[in-house]
Amino acid sequence: FDAIEKSEEAAQTFDREAYRCVWVFAEQREGKLMPAVAELLGEGRKLADELNTELCAVVLGHQISDLASELIGYGAEKVYIGDHQELDTYRTDAYTKVIGEAISAYKPEIVLLGATHIGRDLGPCLAVKADTGLTADCTRLEIGDEERNLHQTRPAFGGNLMATILCPHSRPQMATVRPGVMEAAVFDPQRQGTVIPLEVNFQKGDIRTKVLETVKSIKEQVSLSDADIIVSGGSGLGSGEGFALLEEFAKKLGGVVGASRAAVDAGWIDHSHLIGQTGSTVRPSIYFACGISGAIQHLAGMDGSDYIVAINKDAHAPIFQVADYGLIGDLYEIIPCIMEELDRS
Ligand code: FAD
Repeated sequence: FDAIEKSEEAAQTFDREAYRCVWVFAEQREGKLMPAVAELLGEGRKLADELNTELCAVVLGHQISDLASELIGYGAEKVYIGDHQELDTYRTDAYTKVIGEAISAYKPEIVLLGATHIGRDLGPCLAVKADTGLTADCTRLEIGDEERNLHQTRPAFGGNLMATILCPHSRPQMATVRPGVMEAAVFDPQRQGTVIPLEVNFQKGDIRTKVLETVKSIKEQVSLSDADIIVSGGSGLGSGEGFALLEEFAKKLGGVVGASRAAVDAGWIDHSHLIGQTGSTVRPSIYFACGISGAIQHLAGMDGSDYIVAINKDAHAPIFQVADYGLIGDLYEIIPCIMEELDRS
């Protein structure tokens, strides 16, 4: 009841007009922007144009001034930059302090972060600091009404329905956005913008964590989100050995291998290949779904592909409802035939 009273009180005192601009958190690692940033700027541009306001980026790190022009090239009109050696590697407390103070000083109307490991950690901390709400893992954002409310849509109840969430009683409106879903902004080096340095002033006790060592994963890196062709396998493969066939097929096509949850859970392939609600979201030119039934949680990660080719022996499998080309039959007969044709051509 305290929370309800507080929220009603906030609704009465809340000054909507004080908040303007769409902010994008520009996540960088080792001085390189993460691919999700161009997508956030693409989506942010759409929202900023609709709200008739500015699109801004906020980036933290050490010796990262080059990133400002890159962010402007992707459409940011203003870049807030926090450059300090304590910000070199991401730490929750340091980043929350600097961006939290910037939010309270500049009052953005919307703040978007990628639903990456860092974005998922930082977003809630910033929301608590700003005393506002946050919608995690959004797949669609729209300005839905005259009150400039951001309608934030995300899968809910295990992906069985899409929930649209509003934050009408506080600002900024904050969302983490699933990578691979939004259209990336196009880079244009001619764009002009302003760079605004953020004041970074750490007091003793502000940073309570220390990075002792960074251990890079030695796991094979699968670059699903950048792949132009993806060959995915599901439980229809029958065993892990089936992925050797898919590897060969993908190699011939110049693509990479993806997988359904059933294949990953069976231990046939590493989790980094997973596509869907709990894995990567992909948008290749061609997506081959081999022995995949087409559950809604899988479709959530790949139905933005330009062309979907389904290979399944069940003519009634739901995957055929989204497929542009459907091949009904045993994948162990169909895939070798396609490979033979590829060798001939
Ligand atoms: P199945 O549904 O078992 O389908 C196998 C298909 O292979 C069948 O259509 C069958 O006809 C066909 N087949 C069999 N043998 C052959 C053959 N020889 N040749 C051709 N076709 C053949 N799933 C995901 O993929 N990604 C996610 O991120 C994800 N997240 C989830 C989150 C939640 C909260 C929940 C509840 C579920 C999630 N799932 C996810 C699981 C999802 O619901 C399905 O269970 C899963 O996608 C099924 O995988 P599949 O299509 O490989 O297997």
